[in-house]
Amino acid sequence: MECGLLGKTLAHSYSPQIHKFLGDYTYTLHELEESQIEDFLKGSSFTGLNVTIPYKKTVMPYCTELSQCAKKVGSVNTIIRKDGRLIGHNTDYFGFYSMVQKSGLTVAGKKVLVLGSGGAAVTVITVLKELGANVVVISRTGENNYSNLHLHTDATLIVNTTPVGMYPNVGNSPVDLALFPNLEGVLDLIYNPARTKLLLDAEAKGIVTLNGLWMLVAQAKESAEWFTGAKLPDSIIEDIYTALSNQMQNIVLIGMPGSGKSTTGKAIAQRLHRDFIDADDEIVSRAGITIPEIFAQGGETLFRKLETQVLADLGKESGLVIATGGGCVTQDCNYNHLHQNSIIIWLQRDTDKLPTDGRPLSQTSSLEDMYALRKPLYERYCDIVLDNNGAPGNAVDAIEQIIVKG
Ligand code: NAP
Repeated sequence: MECGLLGKTLAHSYSPQIHKFLGDYTYTLHELEESQIEDFLKGSSFTGLNVTIPYKKTVMPYCTELSQCAKKVGSVNTIIRKDGRLIGHNTDYFGFYSMVQKSGLTVAGKKVLVLGSGGAAVTVITVLKELGANVVVISRTGENNYSNLHLHTDATLIVNTTPVGMYPNVGNSPVDLALFPNLEGVLDLIYNPARTKLLLDAEAKGIVTLNGLWMLVAQAKESAEWFTGAKLPDSIIEDIYTALSNQMQNIVLIGMPGSGKSTTGKAIAQRLHRDFIDADDEIVSRAGITIPEIFAQGGETLFRKLETQVLADLGKESGLVIATGGGCVTQDCNYNHLHQNSIIIWLQRDTDKLPTDGRPLSQTSSLEDMYALRKPLYERYCDIVLDNNGAPGNAVDAIEQIIVKG
């Protein structure tokens, strides 16, 4: 069975990976100009097709029939060929509906701010209204805009449908969450990085967050059902979401100097076929001098500044294994740089087993004192703690288990 994705720019699409989990069909990317779409839809032999930006409306006149959902939302992201007819449907609706369900948030009777008024916003607004929410669209050029957000401080949910904060322009948030004391959750349709600045801010407030990977996987699951005619269990969404999340995020190793971050990092990168980067090596390579020379020139202040620049650049990437310097946790800003798109693993090794050679700070202060200062910081940063006192392969096996088996 031939299925695929039609769009303008598809190089970074995750859809082929997602559809591999969903069914036994080929899934081909079709990057076309608008002028080629009519011939493609009429002339090619696909059984099922997904449609993405900017063609979700363009394809509608070529569909012989539209599902109720496609009519309701006013766009098509899934087409199937049946007895020579092209039937257009919209699975983004189910994708966002499933995202709201997953978040556990109730929206009926509550004020929900939808940021942005583009194609995805239309689907989001349709779902939220059907769930009984009082929806306010915040648009740069609308009546409700970013300069009168003070009119909506009673909002309980914010849904971001703008591209603000998306890779590579990470670190920007469309709104300041301090304005919204009643906020219960934030949903962001962006999935790269896994945690946008908006989601990081929401997480820091202790409220519910969910990124757009859930919606992407859920819409793909309903598309696969349309392609094959066979129902799939809803649990497959969670399975694919977890597998893909683990695959897309970096693995970051933190811990005391000499706790085995570089050795373990290289081994796990080899095992999982990922690129390995030692943040200290990257600092040296960018500075063009050794770490003791950096300390001699500008002390720890200069070193930390260079380290933060390196972690900001590496942290927004995907799928890397990154070994950090032991003291990176002492700079608060490094947390968001690393946490935005990484699973952070703290490798623990007893202080009497830690070497001190070639490590400027380990030679000038007692390791016990250093550990006492840093322990709460490692605890704050890490998602997972791993004991690394045993054989070198143990931590590697444990990380593989976490990443691959979920
Ligand atoms: P779109 O049609 O281009 O709409 C985006 C809207 O965001 C614009 O209409 C605009 O609304 C607002 N916007 C754009 N640039 C902005 C800026 N610099 N600052 C503030 N607002 C800005 O795009 P879309 O198809 O709706 O997609 C929007 C986002 O959702 C993208 O990041 C996309 O990747 C994501 N998405 C995810 C899924 C999923 O399955 N997870 C599905 C669809 C889309 P105003 O002019 O009204 O301000």
